[in-house]
Amino acid sequence: AADNPDRSVAFYSQDMNQGMQERMRIESDLRQALGNGELILYYQPKFEIVSGRIVGAEALVRWLHPTRGLVPPSDFIPLAETTGLIVQVGEWVLEQACAQAAIWQRAGVPPFRLAVNVSAREFTPTLPARVADTLLRYQLDASWLELEITESTLMHDFERVTAIMDRITALGVSLSLDDFGTGYSSLSYLKRFPIHTLKIDRSFTTGIPSDPSDCAIAGTIISMARQLNLRVIAEGVETLAQLDFLREAGCDEVQGYLYSKPVPAFDFERSLRENWLL
Ligand code: C2E
Ligand code: CA
Ligand code: CA
Ligand code: CA
Repeated sequence: AADNPDRSVAFYSQDMNQGMQERMRIESDLRQALGNGELILYYQPKFEIVSGRIVGAEALVRWLHPTRGLVPPSDFIPLAETTGLIVQVGEWVLEQACAQAAIWQRAGVPPFRLAVNVSAREFTPTLPARVADTLLRYQLDASWLELEITESTLMHDFERVTAIMDRITALGVSLSLDDFGTGYSSLSYLKRFPIHTLKIDRSFTTGIPSDPSDCAIAGTIISMARQLNLRVIAEGVETLAQLDFLREAGCDEVQGYLYSKPVPAFDFERSLRENWLL
């Protein structure tokens, strides 16, 4: 089935019946992709609602496969997470994101935060030193970098996770809590962990303004974030009606197709230029 082009979409998806052999093949394919430079980063801008300015961007990985074309992360990140290959993928992503941010910093682009997604398995005690080393090698100011983590990262050993977070924020790198509201965890961590930003998951944004529950959840997250002195961003904003609701509710930033899909660095630079002229 793997050689049948009609099945190419399903090929990299996770399947309970997926054979060991097939998994190993994808894994070795991905390992090769890392070496062959087949991974690329796309960038999606984050807008501050009150100013209309681009204040950040999220780096999102894609696999430019020689025969399958542009493979979305949903088709290989979950597998990379189960096999542990996510560590190497994550190393490449951090390296690439910092290299790109350093180019923008040197070119005199007004500072913005470039966010990198970090899986729970990458959140190890060696991460802070690797982040510090990468910033140093690219002479990148730490304020340019943000790490997006999920609630699953926080579910692990409290002392261990806090120590890693403290070392990362001590560098001047900010942390945001991705897909907020979808995980199974207690709200008490919000005051115990050094988190700067809450990111409202797209599943809630989608229901705005027609679904009363989604509106209530998004509104509650925003007011809680404000009271806890956290920044709050909504992902997956596609309509003006959603933007209006979020502005009224006091949300700080938005990210979504309404403004831009994730795009290659070159196209993102054009968004930056257009945004400055506003
Ligand atoms: P995520 O971190 O929640 O990223 C947001 C996803 O929503 C992205 O999908 C983005 O393209 C999509 N999105 C943004 N705005 C809109 C919108 O207005 N409408 C719709 N329908 N979608 C929107 P993408 O790029 O396919 O990434 C999927 C997931 O893969 C990410 O979800 C993240 O969990 C993971 N991922 C992507 N890149 C990396 C990476 O470098 N490292 C790790 N560990 N995970 C990554
Ligand atoms: Ca994210
Ligand atoms: Ca997200
Ligand atoms: Ca999400």
